Amino acid sequence: QLRTLRPTPAYQQSILARLLSTLAVLEQREGKLNMSSLAAVSAGQKLGASVTGFVAGSGVKAVADEAAKVKGKEKVIYVENGAYDKGLPENFAPLLVENIKKNGFTHILAGHSAFGKNLMPRVAAMLDTQQISDITDIESEDTFVRPIYAGNAILTVKSSDATKVITVRGTAFASDEPTDNEAEVVEGVDPKSDSPTEWISEDLAKSDRPELATAAKVVSGGRGLKSKEEFDRLMPPLADALGAAIGASRAAVDSGFADNSLQVGQTGKNVAPQLYLCAGISGAIQHLAGMKDSKVIACINKDGDAPIFQIADVGLVGDLFDKVPELTEKLNKA
Ligand code: FAD
Repeated sequence: QLRTLRPTPAYQQSILARLLSTLAVLEQREGKLNMSSLAAVSAGQKLGASVTGFVAGSGVKAVADEAAKVKGKEKVIYVENGAYDKGLPENFAPLLVENIKKNGFTHILAGHSAFGKNLMPRVAAMLDTQQISDITDIESEDTFVRPIYAGNAILTVKSSDATKVITVRGTAFASDEPTDNEAEVVEGVDPKSDSPTEWISEDLAKSDRPELATAAKVVSGGRGLKSKEEFDRLMPPLADALGAAIGASRAAVDSGFADNSLQVGQTGKNVAPQLYLCAGISGAIQHLAGMKDSKVIACINKDGDAPIFQIADVGLVGDLFDKVPELTEKLNKA
């Protein structure tokens, strides 16, 4: 008796997984792996494909060895060359494309960070594909989810390109710390292309506080703080009492209360800490777009009708000039 042998969905899925291969572009700074860039690995795992990490710069073999310990990766490719230290896209894109072509990766993932946003459009252009930005979920190997209009609408995008070039929202894909995985570490190809761009210098603000984009706790101040003097008087002690990073609304940044790098929201940073505690922030949609995925949202505002209370898990109606010092004092005593 003849029977049609149809592959089961599980079998089809396993064949598909073997055909897909993901390259997760990792970030490093001065020989240290940027842990938030590991979200690209988690997104790759969700695709169900084999995941290869990629890192380049001077002395990056040690970074590659560390990255190899993160579960979910089969291989880490590294390229030792100081020309890639600062992640200049003019240098990095030809390097990446060369390694993509050599290995035939189907999906190229990088974090939606300054580095990823700078690099990936260039990589996509060189591969003649459409780049897909800031994805928050993966439905299948060709269908991705991304927020648009400051997170007010969610778009599902289907790509017919052979190679998908994607940036990943770090807060949407939890990244694993290096543990006991043992991925193979191999040297990649270095095209050593001539670049018209050269790194001259950088001027970085130094802070002992956790980095805003990846901090587990964030305290954020808004226009309600009234002045830079009040912002500096009230917010840093509260942040120190909690071991938190400091953020700010755009109104606070535009009014000169806080540095531009602290802005949270649609045109600032996206954060999703365990705790987001804000004072003197009304909760405009452009601000919510950058922090609404926080686990616990707490707010202090003197106007009980402020929209921030609609999204907050814990809200305190009161004058921040009384409540913030009181809270700081209580936290320091606890
Ligand atoms: P306000 O809206 O003025 O709110 C101040 C709050 O403080 C009020 O609710 C008030 O009740 C409270 N308050 C005042 N005094 C006290 C007190 N003594 N005690 C307690 N509470 C007090 N905004 C962002 O934050 N991030 C962005 O990335 C961003 N991108 C934008 C992009 C575009 C294209 C546009 C058009 C706007 C964008 N905005 C962004 C601006 C946004 O629309 C709001 O204007 C801004 O978020 C308001 O900041 P705020 O809440 O600090 O100020």
